[in-house]
Amino acid sequence: MRDCRCEIPIESPNPRREGSCVRCGFAINEAWSSNNKTVAEFFGRLKEAVPFDPAIDPLIAEARRRELGGRRRFGNSFHGRENWREGCEEAADGALYAMLQTLVNRRKGESQEIALALTAAHHFAKAHEALRRLGTHDVHAISDFAAEDALAHQDLAPHRDGHISPPSAARD
Ligand SMILES: [Zn+2]
Repeated sequence: MRDCRCEIPIESPNPRREGSCVRCGFAINEAWSSNNKTVAEFFGRLKEAVPFDPAIDPLIAEARRRELGGRRRFGNSFHGRENWREGCEEAADGALYAMLQTLVNRRKGESQEIALALTAAHHFAKAHEALRRLGTHDVHAISDFAAEDALAHQDLAPHRDGHISPPSAARD
């Protein structure tokens, strides 16, 4: 039996027709569905690439939970969507969330943890760039600029008075 070629395959709710498309009746190839195998394949490769990075496991655990939660609800709708563009929006949101948390910390008079927030924003910028290239098949290596040191020097004292100092005054 040939594979379903519908733009967005819709899996049959009938257990006897599991894995087939209700639109065309053909099989939905599991190699391009979001399922336990394809999710494990992708994140297994990530784990293999950076086996000793402690940041990886919590991300994989949360991503797998979120994929499972969305799988039944969204099915194969991702085939009719520009996933890379959605990812770029999420990356921009992630950088904004980091900024917003510094404002919450500032209001409480706590350490704003600017270095952490900027590190998050920087990694989201890298993710934004890689996702854009994923969508446009631009396979050049993403820009390599080691900014960790520059970011580490941005750990400012909390601004208790609500005054925002310009970056040039931030190193006092
Ligand atoms: Zn189909």
